[in-house]
Amino acid sequence: MLPPDYHMHTHLCHHAEGVPMDLARQASEMGIREIGVSEHNPMPSDDFDQWRMYRSKLGEYLANLEEARRAFPNVTLRAALEVDYLPGYEEWIRELASMHDWDYFIGSVHYIDGGWDIDNPNRLEEWRARDVYDVWAAYFDRLTAAAASGLFQIIGHADLPKKFCFVPQRDCTSLFTRFLEAAAGSGTAIEINTAGLRKECREMYPSPPFLRLAKAKGIELTFGSDAHRPGEVGMNFPEAIALARSVGYTHSVRFERRQRTRVPLP
Ligand SMILES: [Zn+2]
Ligand SMILES: [Zn+2]
Repeated sequence: MLPPDYHMHTHLCHHAEGVPMDLARQASEMGIREIGVSEHNPMPSDDFDQWRMYRSKLGEYLANLEEARRAFPNVTLRAALEVDYLPGYEEWIRELASMHDWDYFIGSVHYIDGGWDIDNPNRLEEWRARDVYDVWAAYFDRLTAAAASGLFQIIGHADLPKKFCFVPQRDCTSLFTRFLEAAAGSGTAIEINTAGLRKECREMYPSPPFLRLAKAKGIELTFGSDAHRPGEVGMNFPEAIALARSVGYTHSVRFERRQRTRVPLP
């Protein structure tokens, strides 16, 4: 049996395929008993960027989840969002949290200062123009603030800057440690996100040394495929479980209405 898949998207973010019904069907076929749909959160204004759910679609999103629950009663469906953490948006994130009885929020950093979404393949020229360590440091400053904020139950794809293989020569352990201490302080979990295997970096997020540090700091764990199409649900989960075990994890966590419970790894 596979652990819950807590990170996946639908067509409502304009760069993914499928509806929750398709995701639940795939989970059911794979023997995954619990999934969480975590669409990219709406922003106050829909022209913020081109890759997230519109504010006006929240009702449709929740209705789609309800429809999938009815069609696949054998799969527990959690209602979630992957929420961009940007300084100055804390009030908006609280407002989003009040709009529904969400099971959890994944807090992610895609944007660093200057409005650059570092994982956007159309903006690789920014990577080439900047000092790679400075980008990682700016990213982890923001991720540390996200972890400390207490606004999120899970932090998404923690070492995302490695996506396109722009990795600093300098040791980044102190950046990871500061972030993990913030997460430990607020009781925020992290995820093993298998989507990295499908990117240039060919490695899950986070890396084994990073995950080993997380375990040492007592950080709890979830699993996410970051599926952007139904066929990606639960992808590479056996490898993800093996990675978790290899650094000493014996449990993952699940969330219901933001309440956390620990479950043994399969
Ligand atoms: Zn996406
Ligand atoms: Zn993301």
